[in-house]
This record gives sequence, structure tokens and C-alpha cells, in this order.
Amino acid sequence: LSEDPSFWKDHNVQVIIRIRPLSTSEISLQGNSKCVRQDSFQTITWSGHPESRFTFDLVADENVSQETLFKLSGVAMVDNCMGGYNSCMFAYGQTGSGKTHTMLGDIDGGTGRHGVNCGMTPRVFEYLFSRIQKEKEARREEKLKFTCKCSFLEIYNEQILDLLDPSSTNLQIREDTKKGVYVDNLTEVEVTRARDVIQQLVQGSTNRKVAATNMNHASSRSHSVFTCIIESKWEAQGVTHHRFARLNLVDLAGSERLNKVKRRQKSSGAEGERLKEATNINKSLSTLGLVIMNLVNISNGKSLHVPYRDSKLTFLLQDSLGGNSKTIIIANISPSSCCALETLSTLKFAQRAK
Ligand code: ADP
Ligand code: MG
Repeated sequence: LSEDPSFWKDHNVQVIIRIRPLSTSEISLQGNSKCVRQDSFQTITWSGHPESRFTFDLVADENVSQETLFKLSGVAMVDNCMGGYNSCMFAYGQTGSGKTHTMLGDIDGGTGRHGVNCGMTPRVFEYLFSRIQKEKEARREEKLKFTCKCSFLEIYNEQILDLLDPSSTNLQIREDTKKGVYVDNLTEVEVTRARDVIQQLVQGSTNRKVAATNMNHASSRSHSVFTCIIESKWEAQGVTHHRFARLNLVDLAGSERLNKVKRRQKSSGAEGERLKEATNINKSLSTLGLVIMNLVNISNGKSLHVPYRDSKLTFLLQDSLGGNSKTIIIANISPSSCCALETLSTLKFAQRAK
């Protein structure tokens, strides 16, 4: 897919379905009974009633390795950023469907080296820095320089928390004609190799768990956004040129929350805090879906309002969604019959982004 120069074809949004293997608890509940079957590299059928068939850019089954998935999507994303364009990758899906496995996987913060289960983000940065190195060597006479700065934040209940500075709370999004949209007082760490990035990822993920405990929520109820700003500078005909690109990797909150709370509320009347939290998660996920859907329709010639400001997540990523930016959505699903309804709702969400 990514080796194909027309990876992005005429649309800027690629949607990938990733099916994880059945878990042992699913097997003990429902045996090997599955709610989906893959028909081809691009189609998947949900086998409930009524049976429904969906087409995506790619359907990756449980045999698709972390490395293959990276080659099929992450490579194109880095290449796009090296060309000076912003990119976003989102992992969507119910809790337990494989979002964090896809985005982070098993990382060894100590050595920075990775094994077969290491996920997208470490691979993306390893490839990014190898491309930077090659480009610098090839364009030595232009004095090509790169500066990469990372930030890592969490959005919980429409509040922004700096995962690289756990003492911060409720950071604000600002807009500036020069800087674009940015988060005020957000920590930015300069990184020069993949190992630096992994260090920040491990630190931020640890802080995320601590914050979740302090605020009495599971990290599955928040979105995490890892951003790298890649700045390049070179000289040509006596003029200094600058280029900026943003690379965003987003592990979204579990998509199941609202359905569950809605059901529970009907039967027992949900508690205020949980309901507010669920409403916020749902609002930001549905706004994300709507923003992407409208951007796809705009690129097909329609004129539509894009409701970036309806959620913190889309407001924050405004400059990285739409225009020349590229987006990849990896919608993670469980194939088990136990998850049939959640899986269907994920397939429908992903379909809307097409
Ligand atoms: P989420 O972040 O969506 O809540 P996780 O990434 O934590 O889900 O995945 C839940 C469990 O399933 C983890 O134990 C993870 O290792 C496993 N898992 C998820 N996707 C895969 C996969 N493609 N291959 C093997 N194991 C997976
Ligand atoms: Mg997770």
C-alpha cells in the first residue's frame, strides 16, 4: 500500500480496520465464534442481522504484524511530513480492541531497542530519524538542518493535561496568526533520535496512569495526543528557507462508553460525573467523525462547515486536519461474537470517514 506512490490517491484520509486476535476470555465466553469475516484486503462482512459488508482502504487481520502495519501506513505518514505537510494518525475502537497495542505496543524504554511487538509510534520515529539523516547527507551543501520537538498531552473531560509536566492542569488552546493553533504552556522537548522519543513516551505514559488514578478515572476514558513538530531549515541561492510539519499520533478514548452509560442510565439513572464524562467522550468522538466526514466531502467538491471548535481534540488538531494534511484512521475491532455490537458501531464510524 505505502510503496504505491498513489497511497493517498485523491483523498487525504485513509481508513484501516485492524482485527485483533481473539482473547482467552473471549474464547472462554463464546469459543471461536466470530462476528466478522474478512472477504478481501479491503472488505469485511459483519455477520449479524442484517449482514453488512464494508469497504475500506485496508482490512488488516490478526496475522498482520506490527511491522507490516507500519510499512502499510506509518511510512507514508512520515514521508508526508518530510514533504512539509502535517499528518495525523488516530487509533479508534472500544476499550480492549487494540488501540494502545497498535500505537505503542511493547516498548522497552531502557534500551530503546524494539522487538516484534513494538508499535507504530517507535517505528515512526525510527524511520523519521533515518530519513532525516539521509536527507541531511544528501543536501549537505544546502546546510540542511532539522529540529524536532515533541509534546505529549491528554484530554480528559474536555480538559488538557501536559503528560510531560504532571503538575500542570487545564491548559488552554490558543490561536495565533503566525503560530496557528497551540496549547499554552505545553512542555516541548527537543529530540534527536528515536530513543529520546521513546523516553518521553514512557515517561508520559507513566504520568498518564498516575493522573488517571488521581482523578479517579481509567486512562481508557481520555485521549492521548503525541505530537512532533519537525522544523527544517536550508539555504538556497543565498536565501534561508524554513519548513514546518506536525506529526500527530492519537490514542483515542474507548468508543464504548456512551452506549453503556445510556443503557445503564435507562435502567438505574446514571451518576452525574460519569454521565458528564461519557457525554464529553461521545461528543469529541462524534465531532472527530463529523469533521473528517465533512473534510472528505469538501475534497469531493461540497461546501460544508467543519465544526473544529466543537471539541478540544478537533480544535487542537485543526491545522493538522484538512487542507494539505493527511489523516490515517486505524479502527481497531475485536472479532469475537461477544463484541458484535461494539464492532458494528466501530465499522460504521470508520465507514463515515470514507
Ligand atoms: P485498548 O488500548 O484499545 O484498550 P489494548 O491495546 O490495551 O486495547 O489491547 C488489549 C489487549 O489485547 C492487550 O493485552 C493487547 O496486548 C492485546 N492485543 C491487542 N491487539 C493485538 C494484536 N493485534 N495482536 C496481539 N495482541 C493484541
Ligand atoms: Mg489503551
